Amino acid sequence: MEMKLKLFHDAKAPLANGHKRDSLLMMPDDEFESNHGFIQWAFPTAKKSNQNFNAPVLDLGSAIWLAERNDVSEFLEDMSVRFLEFLKKNDHWKSRYNHNHLRISRAIDSLRLLHSWELADWFYGQVKTFAGQSLELMPDATVHWEAKASSKHDRVAGAFVGLAVGDALGAPVEFCRRGTFPEVTEYRAGGKFDLPAGAWTDDTAMALCLAHSLIEGDGFNAKDLLTRFSRWLEKGENTSTGVSVGVGQNTLRTLGDFWRKGTLVAERFGSKNEGNGSLMRLSPVACHAYTDLQKVRDLASAQSRTTHASDIADECCQYLGELLARMIDGQTYQVVKGELLKSEWNYPVKSVLEADYKDTSEGKIKSTGYVVDTLQASIWAVENSKSFEGAVLKAVNLGDDADTVGAVAGQIAGAMYGYSEVARHLKTGLVDERKIYVTSQFLFL
Ligand code: MG
Ligand code: MG
Repeated sequence: MEMKLKLFHDAKAPLANGHKRDSLLMMPDDEFESNHGFIQWAFPTAKKSNQNFNAPVLDLGSAIWLAERNDVSEFLEDMSVRFLEFLKKNDHWKSRYNHNHLRISRAIDSLRLLHSWELADWFYGQVKTFAGQSLELMPDATVHWEAKASSKHDRVAGAFVGLAVGDALGAPVEFCRRGTFPEVTEYRAGGKFDLPAGAWTDDTAMALCLAHSLIEGDGFNAKDLLTRFSRWLEKGENTSTGVSVGVGQNTLRTLGDFWRKGTLVAERFGSKNEGNGSLMRLSPVACHAYTDLQKVRDLASAQSRTTHASDIADECCQYLGELLARMIDGQTYQVVKGELLKSEWNYPVKSVLEADYKDTSEGKIKSTGYVVDTLQASIWAVENSKSFEGAVLKAVNLGDDADTVGAVAGQIAGAMYGYSEVARHLKTGLVDERKIYVTSQFLFL
């Protein structure tokens, strides 16, 4: 945790080159231009400033802390408007090189990390409007702005937050037989674990463990990942209620092997190896590595092997990982599906991928904990709906392993439609939504 940021926002300390938080909003234009030490405080990012070595640098913990506070969100909104006023009234920045270009990059980055892709995108849209024809004078800057405001970040957030939304919508009807429960249309309390509305289960908790391991370990590390899974199970870390719920038999057993013997690659046992437990938590892998499809496949497989000794689960994870990664990168679902069919897949995964689900009735779709059923049900839900919300509701209303089918459909639909297309009530009602959103953005800095 970056304590300086806490002091600045909490204790209203005058750290921004002599300014307190609120006085930044009242700076006249000439000071806004000439004061070189405040912008890193107004718009912190995860990169160290080359100009100001005392400036705060965001880490994941600080970013979550800031993003969860309404007063910080409001400050970021006000500060964006103040910066835009400055840019609107002044013309000197409309040139090939100007120090305000770096500030604009920083603002886009910070708004996206701490607030939302939508606000970053809106801010950049305003900058483009004010720049008008002059935008052509600044090709070096616009390359950075485009990258920082890219809709890829929106789809990264969609793939991760979507997972949690599907999990939370499905949790109250997990283990319920299809047709025996009132149709799910929004978050509701209850279910086997008696969770409050909007709370999520092992699917999202383990995805957060995987994400934090990738971010803080700077890549894949089986021991670190299994240690985080263990802390989730034992201590309730990364849970929505403080207590871990929903652990599957297979995961419980492999975590036991890890504790007792230090086993880093799951061993086969009984008939429960082909569960969906490594598929449900997958999207952080695609968010982290979507620019490198081979890396996505390798990570998808490696993370699956830590808890699931199954070639089938491994293939399903590789398929979903590449599907998400290509969509995050901007390809349409139909194009990606066609591309993925060119790869070698073994039975039964191959048969799932070759099927056309447009004409498949719900009665033919199973929503069990078998990984192939889960992948198939999720694809069916996405292909037979026209929105993010439509897809996840279709998925969870299948019942049975509803939270996990919801979580997988949520990953696909989130990468397809983007975070900005997730209905507002599904974001505001989701427990720890800010933590999940910010984590998604730290997966690809
Ligand atoms: Mg679950
Ligand atoms: Mg489940």
